Amino acid sequence: MRKPKIDIDKCVACGNCEEICPEVFQVEDVSHVITDDFRGLEGCIEAAAENCPEDAITFEEEEEE
Ligand code: SF4
Repeated sequence: MRKPKIDIDKCVACGNCEEICPEVFQVEDVSHVITDDFRGLEGCIEAAAENCPEDAITFEEEEEE
C-alpha cells in the first residue's frame, strides 16, 4: 500500500496540502497525516505532493508492518 509521508524538516507550513486534501493533511506547526485510510484519496494526495513548494510530501509503496 502506498502511504504519504511528510519530511518535517522541509515543510514550511504553507497550507497547500491541507487546502488540496484536508481528509489526509492537517497543518499545525508543520503538516501531519491525519488518517490511515487512503482509499479513494490517491488523486488528492498526489495533487498535494505535486503542489508542495518544498517537495516535502512523498507517496510511495511501503511494506506492511
Ligand atoms: S504543502 Fe508541503 S510545505 Fe506546505 S504545508 Fe504541506 S507539506 Fe508543508
